[in-house]
Amino acid sequence: MTNHLLNEIRSRISDEARVFLETPEGQKLTYGQAIARSGQFANALQALGVEPGDRVAVQVEKSPEALLLYLGTVRAGAIFLPLNTAYTPAEIGYFVGDAEPKALVCDPARVAALSDIASGVGAKVETLDASGHGSLRDKADAASSAFDDVARGPDDLAAILYTSGTTGRSKGAMLSHENLASNARTLVDYWRFSENDVLLHALPIFHTHGLFVATNVTLMAGGSLLFLPKFDLGDVLRLLPRATSMMGVPTFYTRLLSSGDFTKDLVAHMRLFISGSAPLSAEVHKEFSERTGHAILERYGMTETNMNTSNPYDGDRRPGTVGFPLPGVDLRIADPETGKVLEDGEVGVIEVKGPNVFKGYWRMPEKTAEEFRADGFFITGDMGVVDKRGYVSIVGRAKDLIISGGFNVYPAEVEALIDEIPGVAENAVIGVAHPDFGEGVVAVVARKPGSDLNGDAVRGALADRLAKFKQPKTVYMVDQLPRNTMGKIQKNVLRDTYKDTFA
Ligand code: ATP
Ligand code: MG
Repeated sequence: MTNHLLNEIRSRISDEARVFLETPEGQKLTYGQAIARSGQFANALQALGVEPGDRVAVQVEKSPEALLLYLGTVRAGAIFLPLNTAYTPAEIGYFVGDAEPKALVCDPARVAALSDIASGVGAKVETLDASGHGSLRDKADAASSAFDDVARGPDDLAAILYTSGTTGRSKGAMLSHENLASNARTLVDYWRFSENDVLLHALPIFHTHGLFVATNVTLMAGGSLLFLPKFDLGDVLRLLPRATSMMGVPTFYTRLLSSGDFTKDLVAHMRLFISGSAPLSAEVHKEFSERTGHAILERYGMTETNMNTSNPYDGDRRPGTVGFPLPGVDLRIADPETGKVLEDGEVGVIEVKGPNVFKGYWRMPEKTAEEFRADGFFITGDMGVVDKRGYVSIVGRAKDLIISGGFNVYPAEVEALIDEIPGVAENAVIGVAHPDFGEGVVAVVARKPGSDLNGDAVRGALADRLAKFKQPKTVYMVDQLPRNTMGKIQKNVLRDTYKDTFA
């Protein structure tokens, strides 16, 4: 048996001299070097006592070394467990207690705050800083680059990734070698990635989007990454002319559009812009095509499943939709209560099945059982609808569904109409407790700079366009909406802020 994921990546490397990654400063790493250096990390982990199946928890700033550590961990047969850099030591305490890693790799500045947490579960603490230096790097540098990848089968775990915690406490999704390999394989074909691709990578690498979608797809295509530490508008504008493709969260696209330097000429050579992790508004999609001539390709995925659907490469990339189920992914819409499969055109919960779907939540067998149907479909918790042409649209999360006076209100429908009102930058529609209706619809709207739009005007614009029960009873104007590090609007924060609206 070989190491399933690494074997597949290795088999696609046509020339070890090709560049896998380049930093904004021009530092280059070839595929051959990536293999050698990840071998050093694998040796360093083994020397620490990391054995196949052990978890390696990693809370570090984005650096090329952090990616090499990911590859080294998988090669050592261990389970890579990245953690959001924004998490506080107290939050890390929860994750480390839950995952019981053999090693915890953190920023040197965090050692004091995390060492008790680590020793509580017997984990060794190692460091890696934003420049890729630290105790683990030292150990890797001193280790041999020769490493025989530990044999792992398709169903063995390669990673545990915690969900973003948008709707509640983060859950650890167990992802197998084949979960990751199958999805990357599919996406390379679907999005036509090749070794000529240079992907502008400005996403964090503690999340599915930046770690698996962007990195694994590039590795499997044999392309290269322009690897930015974060999304910095100036850097992105400077480097876009050297890229062929970019993956981003919707806020990347709104930030690009906010700059007068973001012009059609700047991106005339680009092949592909992809968006995901949160809904891309149809307005931003349209503004982007008007400005650049490029239709952003929106796709839909989640930590538990990698990518499920995508707009087509050729053909119509429809604003406000997430496209078709990917090859190999079965998708259906079901009644959330009964599980009855619904017809096209009916709104229900999105359920998926395929080689991309995870092995369950880490140490949560009951939660896992609740989220799967008897026939193996995973209940995503996202509400959606499939149209006649087969395009899937997401209408909001089941947890964000508003029931007002007994009627269902799907936030995405109201949000899309508000987005169309001139002067609206972004908005979120939520339900809050209402004494007569159970829940009342509330819109929270951020204005574009210079606009004097107010709540009455928003309500006025919707008056003839929506049934009365869907219309926001109250509109709050704000400067910006609360978002987490993945650019997701935190509706739980909004619901809490405005909970007394109708009290
Ligand atoms: P938690 O599960 O902990 O509440 P989360 O669901 O935000 O957090 P992720 O796995 O990072 O954690 O995000 C997956 C979710 O992101 C999807 O279930 C969906 O709600 C949303 N999402 C991803 N892509 C899109 C998209 N293109 N359009 C709309 N929503 C999207
Ligand atoms: Mg989720």
